[in-house]
Amino acid sequence: MELVSLPTLRMYWSSKDRLSQQSIREVDRLYLARAMMALPANLQRWTPKHISGMTGVGKFLAIWDHSAKSSCPRRSSCPVEDHLHVPCCSAPTAAAEWSKRHLAFWTWMQTQQTAPEIETFLFEYLKTVRQPSLGVPTVRAWSHHPHLFQSAISSQAKLGAQGLLEGLVSPNWRHLQVLHFSYIGSKKSANLWASRLIQQLIRIGHYMWKDRNRLAHSEDSSWYTARKREIDIGIREQFAMGLMDIPPRLQYLFRDSHETVLNKSLEDRQHWLRLVSRERAINRRSLARQCQMIFDLARPANPTLTRPPGASP
Ligand SMILES: [Zn+2]
Repeated sequence: MELVSLPTLRMYWSSKDRLSQQSIREVDRLYLARAMMALPANLQRWTPKHISGMTGVGKFLAIWDHSAKSSCPRRSSCPVEDHLHVPCCSAPTAAAEWSKRHLAFWTWMQTQQTAPEIETFLFEYLKTVRQPSLGVPTVRAWSHHPHLFQSAISSQAKLGAQGLLEGLVSPNWRHLQVLHFSYIGSKKSANLWASRLIQQLIRIGHYMWKDRNRLAHSEDSSWYTARKREIDIGIREQFAMGLMDIPPRLQYLFRDSHETVLNKSLEDRQHWLRLVSRERAINRRSLARQCQMIFDLARPANPTLTRPPGASP
């Protein structure tokens, strides 16, 4: 899968000021595609969602389900939770998980005979995901290819530290690793190293996501309790509003009593509420538009006609 060449993702990065069209050209596309294909199916599905930010973080829960809050499940004092917040959350569990994964990444690089300057740079640059003020690290080049190393740094800096967690790495790291394996007389494949490096980086982001979900779905978490309460209030409100504005094809959702719906699993309740509130909102907007059209058609013949409720002037 030529992931980064997908026009929608490129447009997303550009529209969000994440990456310019020029920066996207710095990505090692071939090896990102290879890494993606080597990842387990669940990570293949998760990665594009994570890159586009369209995951079940607080920001999107609030958009999808108007009753939800956009707060972070790990720490209530955090700002709005979007996907970029997940790896840099200041909650103690997030800090502990990060330290563990960051260190494991260092160990992995060492076991794979990674060029020392690549090890140091990637380890230090990853720190800026959580501490952006550290900036791009200055690392001494041990190799005999200082120009290539500087070029790799400058290329990676255009992709950003967050880009590392999305598997966006410069191809120059692979080129440097080829030279390093040759220098130390290793028969290892730099191509395989590059694919595995990208997989390791994507996994760091995924581990942070799993840690976030562990807290979000823990019944001991205050976020979970508040979320459950919001959903149940939303369901009761929908039942109180009745079938008006609910399209006939979805009226079966009201066949059960509200007690039956409230006894379903949290995931099912969330799905029920999201579906009903979205369809009701769509139907209301459609009815308001129809009323407006009728009003506009009728106005020349009868200027004293009263404007329908909900119709804009
Ligand atoms: Zn947080």
